Amino acid sequence: MKVLRSPLFAGMLSLLSMSGTVAQTQAQPELPHVAVLATGGTIAGTAESSTQTTGYKPGVLSAEALLKSVPSLGKVAQVTGEQVANVGSDDMDNEILLKLAKRVNELLSDKEVSGVVVTHGTDTLEETAYFLNLVVKSDKPVVVTGSMRPATAIGADGPSNILQAVTVAASPEARGRGVMIVLNDRIGSARYTTKSDANALDTFKSVGSGYLGTLVNQQPLFEMRLAKKHTTDTPFDVSKLNALPKVDIIYGYQNDNGYMFDAAVENKAKGIVVAGVGAGSESRFIRPAIKNAIDKGVVVVRSTRTGGGFIPEDAAYFGLLGDSLNPQKARILLMLALTVSSDPARIQEMLHTY
Ligand code: ASP
Repeated sequence: MKVLRSPLFAGMLSLLSMSGTVAQTQAQPELPHVAVLATGGTIAGTAESSTQTTGYKPGVLSAEALLKSVPSLGKVAQVTGEQVANVGSDDMDNEILLKLAKRVNELLSDKEVSGVVVTHGTDTLEETAYFLNLVVKSDKPVVVTGSMRPATAIGADGPSNILQAVTVAASPEARGRGVMIVLNDRIGSARYTTKSDANALDTFKSVGSGYLGTLVNQQPLFEMRLAKKHTTDTPFDVSKLNALPKVDIIYGYQNDNGYMFDAAVENKAKGIVVAGVGAGSESRFIRPAIKNAIDKGVVVVRSTRTGGGFIPEDAAYFGLLGDSLNPQKARILLMLALTVSSDPARIQEMLHTY
């Protein structure tokens, strides 16, 4: 990395050099204990200048450095930090997902721990958050956060998002609401919140369903509860899992092709999510290949590429209904559903329940 001259960069460099897997903030012992699990992303990313907000390196700073960048954390909670991974979230995989989920459950089973925060790249943050929403076995708060600007940027959003995420995770009112996504003063449910813009700071939206709450003066104000079942009310148990069934997503478009489905079947996919046009419609070009995949035992789920809405019954099309799950979240649920059942009726029920 190039030597950086401004005081800001000198500060960032000193944080970079810190090492160790467990970090701790100074705080009053009566404050709740929140464990922060760092996985990388832009929030831990650095660039060569304070104006660079693209082309930087994600997943550079340690968990300890992230905590040190928010001195007021110690007024909110006793915070410990651990590094689970340090990757851009485009590189997040099932192995890290399982390791993270097991560690979250381990921490939450400790009566001294009040809540967990996961720092994550924003690109696939919603997938990890929804996975945790389905496999965490506790009603203690779990909050996933990230940032759109690297830690070295002027106006970096990471420190404020970490403070807000820890504040929500420390709040007794946050219990029992499922896994939450907290950025930019908003508290969203992992079930509905999605990254809606490739570049904008306020990219996380919960279109069509609203937010669980907001933060005012850094204090959480809750307004809604998630109606779908989650966490302790799901049958999913990751404690003995070392891998997840392979599920692919195939995008729908004009003049599309069945060979993508044939390739998924050949490559031993156990499930396929169709990111269909409109309300999960399937063109005449792909229907025979979808039927063939189903006949071979692959579970197919219809979803929509539109970014919102619900998938209705339609006798013309093949596959289960993805409810209001976007394709990437339908994939997460289908992977977990396939760990407990291969019965299409039972999987359909799960798609509507969680
Ligand atoms: N590419 C980054 C990641 O997902 C983007 C971010 O964190 O905002 O890791």
